[in-house]
Amino acid sequence: MTKIPVGILGATGMVGQNYIALLKNHPWFDVRFVAASPRSAGKKYAEAVAGRWQLVNPFPPHAGEIIVEDANDVSRAIAAQRKGECAFVFSALEMGKDETRALEEAYAAAGIPVISNASAHRWTADVPVLIGEINPDHTDIIPEQQKVRRWNKGFIVVKPNCSIQSYMIPLHALAQAGYPVKQLIVTTMQAISGAGYPGVPSLDIIDNIVPYIGGEEEKTEMEPLKIFGTITDGIIQNAELPVISACCNRVPVIDGHTACVSLEFGEKKPAIEAIKKIWAKFKGLPQEQKFPMAPKQPIIYREEENRPQPRKDRDLDKAMSVVIGRLRPCNVFDIRFTALSHNTVRGAAGGGILNAELLKHKGYL
Ligand code: NAP
Repeated sequence: MTKIPVGILGATGMVGQNYIALLKNHPWFDVRFVAASPRSAGKKYAEAVAGRWQLVNPFPPHAGEIIVEDANDVSRAIAAQRKGECAFVFSALEMGKDETRALEEAYAAAGIPVISNASAHRWTADVPVLIGEINPDHTDIIPEQQKVRRWNKGFIVVKPNCSIQSYMIPLHALAQAGYPVKQLIVTTMQAISGAGYPGVPSLDIIDNIVPYIGGEEEKTEMEPLKIFGTITDGIIQNAELPVISACCNRVPVIDGHTACVSLEFGEKKPAIEAIKKIWAKFKGLPQEQKFPMAPKQPIIYREEENRPQPRKDRDLDKAMSVVIGRLRPCNVFDIRFTALSHNTVRGAAGGGILNAELLKHKGYL
């Protein structure tokens, strides 16, 4: 099979580097175009990330020779598209929200689909926020988005905040089994790689916890409602439930966001053992269709009383599974549990690749 040539905007950053590493042997996609800020433009990719390659894996030599373009210059991507080197882009840009929104729209208007990790478009009513296991049908809004905006081949889809997938997939599995959740309280313990490059100063985070991450609690409380929402009259209408209250903390962990969740069901309340069975059986479209980036087991439950732990569990099943443990009754709501997901893989580049696989499966790429 001929691979689809893809581009990465923000290729030199924390998430961009994960795209480079994860796409190294991807059976469908081949990285041929990389772009970042004017600081990196004009350098070979290997030079641009020299001294700040974040990953433990060796640097992938296939990407090192590609010349980094200026992501603000859409004409470079258009030229690459004409040469057959960029059919669509993953966006992992970290710049102002207005600038990001305008730039991603410029790519889409130029006929280049954008699969974004940035938060800029998460609240745009005709842009779907996709988690392949939960709302793959939200891609149905793409033709409407293209029609209203007069975009020919281009479109924009985004993935949600990196802190929410660890409990969104378990919540969706329960709702599908007939047990929707009415409200929940979540406390997140989020890794420092979630803060991008150069990250949180070591003196702030070693031997410490920072009980504030700008904008994170609002995203954590609101984004699930759009993901659980429905397409009505050409826009995505938010679901009304669950009501969420979040406390988000930065902790001295390199990768892997952990969430402690207490929740209340609606009328029907499943037993603890029934919940474990629902989670063990759950499969979404990515599993049914065996997408290359999909974990075989999207929800892994660990029976040990002291799991999940970021260092031991974040990399399970390509770092794409959600790992849960400590499910037990709650003295205030119905149940409580601890959930973990890898923030720069499932929560960022891996989740973006899974979205691209979904879009290819649906015929949009
Ligand atoms: P990062 O490490 O700071 O990387 C930012 C990237 O954007 C770099 O490639 C940088 O290029 C580029 N950039 C910065 N300013 C630019 C400009 N003015 N014009 C063009 N390119 C510019 O950030 P990150 O952690 O990878 O995050 C990237 C995006 O993913 C963000 O929107 C973030 O919110 C989102 N996200 C991150 C995570 C995570 O766990 N880290 C999870 C989910 C979503 P230079 O290297 O040339 O400066």
